[in-house]
Amino acid sequence: MLTLYLHIPFCKARCSYCDFYLVTGMEHIDLFFSALSLETASRSADLKGRTIGAIHFGGGTPSMVPVHYLSGWLEQIAALCSFAPDIEIALEANPEDLDEKKMDELQAAGITRLSIGAQSFMPEKLYALGRAHTALQSNLVTASALQRFKSVSVDLICGVPGENLSMWEADLYKALTLRPHHLSVYMLSVEPKTILHHQIAKGMLSVPDDALQASLYEHAQGVLLRQGYNHYEVSNFSLPGHHSIYNLATWKREPYLGFGPSAHSFFLSEEREERTANVSSLVRYLSAPTAAVAFREELSAEERFTEHVFLALRINSGLDVDFLRKENKLGQGLLQSITRFEERGWIEQQDGRLYLTEKGFLFADLIAEEFISG
Ligand code: SF4
Repeated sequence: MLTLYLHIPFCKARCSYCDFYLVTGMEHIDLFFSALSLETASRSADLKGRTIGAIHFGGGTPSMVPVHYLSGWLEQIAALCSFAPDIEIALEANPEDLDEKKMDELQAAGITRLSIGAQSFMPEKLYALGRAHTALQSNLVTASALQRFKSVSVDLICGVPGENLSMWEADLYKALTLRPHHLSVYMLSVEPKTILHHQIAKGMLSVPDDALQASLYEHAQGVLLRQGYNHYEVSNFSLPGHHSIYNLATWKREPYLGFGPSAHSFFLSEEREERTANVSSLVRYLSAPTAAVAFREELSAEERFTEHVFLALRINSGLDVDFLRKENKLGQGLLQSITRFEERGWIEQQDGRLYLTEKGFLFADLIAEEFISG
């Protein structure tokens, strides 16, 4: 199955914690979609004869874009390949962009899944994150989206400045009152050069320490499992049948094509695996959309192994022990590592596969690193 990603690089303003590639304002929206059309046409050979299982509009803020631009691109794609009957067409949306009319238009354009960047239902957390929407908007929009779309996901962030366990409990409770089909729960990460990083460096704010962050995450795991959500990836929880098809495909290392500035693609064949990345500059993208690829790399056997271990451990289908035994560099040390992680309660073995436990999800990267390099 092939999946597609479109990176829409526009946001109204930059949130204090965000380091994604984006530009503020939408002055170049027309030029952007003209360039996208050229990029898409230039890649028609990659699309021809293929069946698309999922299309993901990410960003940036795709919900800012007038819907006719999105449907125009979907029509262009549909003319070049075919869509699976149960295709997922997902759009990342900010609550302040969504009203009844916009949601009707998105539905009519074929969007099946809305991923709402609520981040929190608590005014003080939204303020600390520099978000443009209110808690009330998150609430109303999520409730309304649940009446319309096949799947509705809500993003939540824990560990914002000043947050403690009781605040996080209250936030989770508010989200769960709405019973979204899917929740993505992220621990706040303070990235260099962000406003948040600057505020922390100046002593204006402080974030919860690692132990508190971990307990907030563990609390969410417990609550969501008790509420019937399936923990299918480190940060993602879904009710049955509502996992993200696009995200799961990328974690399973299935091929995908990315369009727009800074979008990545992954090509896979019997002989080779290749990753490419488009240029992370709107100006350069607009000036040469048919030559947008700025980086191309064929993966070595070692890189394929590294990716496979990192990604397979993150999801609940686990990692094949025989594969690990054949490819790893630890030799006899592998068995010791597995036993040590089992004793700590971080991994479990079943039917020849290794699975992270709920406790182990917190240490996914550490475990993968040890399996890869010892
Ligand atoms: S809306 Fe999303 S992409 Fe845009 S600045 Fe905020 S966090 Fe970053």
